Amino acid sequence: MLITGLQQANHVPAFNTIWHISAPSNVKAFVWRVLWGRIQTRVDLSRIGLYFVGDDLKCPLCQLEDESVDHLLFCCVHASTLWYKCYKWMGLVTVLPGECSSHLFQHACEPWNKKQRTAWWDVWCAVVWSVWGWRNKVVFCNEAPDWSNALDIIQWKSWKWISALEKDFQCSIFKWISDPSSCLSQIGH
Ligand SMILES: [Zn+2]
Repeated sequence: MLITGLQQANHVPAFNTIWHISAPSNVKAFVWRVLWGRIQTRVDLSRIGLYFVGDDLKCPLCQLEDESVDHLLFCCVHASTLWYKCYKWMGLVTVLPGECSSHLFQHACEPWNKKQRTAWWDVWCAVVWSVWGWRNKVVFCNEAPDWSNALDIIQWKSWKWISALEKDFQCSIFKWISDPSSCLSQIGH
């Protein structure tokens, strides 16, 4: 399958990033598939003939646009709101691309060191992984996500992953929630 909207210049650093993050291996494997455009959204399934003309390709989260990888994880109103909450939490202001590898690449353009950028990419992976999980609960269990606590879940997951593997990351979950920038600044010095 072709990589949709791939910007080659952004591609290699984005891919190399994945193997250095702290997220569990199943999350890394999922993110790898996201970057290759190989998760089974409704648009992707229709491309390989598993949906038929007239089938509902709409995003199960918003029901407004067709469900492609880029829509579901980056452009959907629910996903994009969550991304902006993450950036606000980290004290960053940015305009986010609507395409996967560009989004990942831009995510860590702050003047941080390599380990700090890697930890911040763990937050990226937590968002992508969580949105996919919530999407699957809608599709397979008919369970609507509670978007009001979505950022709390991202903060908890990313803290758990980073603190498990990054020895310099010594902050409590409370510190991570209240002052993530200072927690990241401890890493790699
Ligand atoms: Zn949507």
